[in-house]
Amino acid sequence: MKRVLISFSGGLDSTYLVYDNLKNGNIVTGVYTTIENNVNKTRVELNQIKKLEKLFLEEFPNNFNLEIGMKINAQSGNDVTMKQISIWIISLLYSRSSTYDEVQIGAVMNDDMISFLDDIKNLWDAFSFVVPKKTPLIFPLMKKSKCEISNLLPQKYKDLVVFCEDPKIINDIPLLFENCNNCHSCKRYKYESDLWGLTYGQIQQNISDSDPAAYPTYPTIKIMGSDVDLEPAENVNIH
Ligand SMILES: [Zn+2]
Repeated sequence: MKRVLISFSGGLDSTYLVYDNLKNGNIVTGVYTTIENNVNKTRVELNQIKKLEKLFLEEFPNNFNLEIGMKINAQSGNDVTMKQISIWIISLLYSRSSTYDEVQIGAVMNDDMISFLDDIKNLWDAFSFVVPKKTPLIFPLMKKSKCEISNLLPQKYKDLVVFCEDPKIINDIPLLFENCNNCHSCKRYKYESDLWGLTYGQIQQNISDSDPAAYPTYPTIKIMGSDVDLEPAENVNIH
């Protein structure tokens, strides 16, 4: 049994990574990092990960713990990949990473992130001085394809997976959303479903009844140009 910290976005890859660790008897903390400049996406993701949390706890009682990590304000046109990665690293370090045996990120084969793996490892090492004990950073899904993990993840979890970068909110309370069918992720989903018959997520979802106050929050990080400022945490509002 290992204590594992996972960067958990509610997407297919990180949901599978959490599930696989739980299935292997590990104790998992999933850290969700909020991207503030995409309000709809954040609302949808938070709602879905709270539903996923409920399912994980039903199947693996006491072994899963959800943390809402840092809020990030990434106001920067196209070049957000490296900035987002820096933020995940900081967010993971903030989450008392030293108290875990491993920190895991769910990058799969052909993921955009794969070409940044060395950078991510370097960042991890560079930032590690801020915590008392350096914890190994692992990418367990690197040699798995999206298709493979989609086949391994039970349907009840797949149904809750989020992928759209720009979901449309069609009703506030209870929350109903619609995928945009036009963003990079929606297009990739269409490609994958046409090519491999992958199905995950749903066109519409309604919402959770969880209490946002029950989740710890960390400071906001603002990324504008190259400036990084820490700001006090605010409450995350979920309906
Ligand atoms: Zn979309």
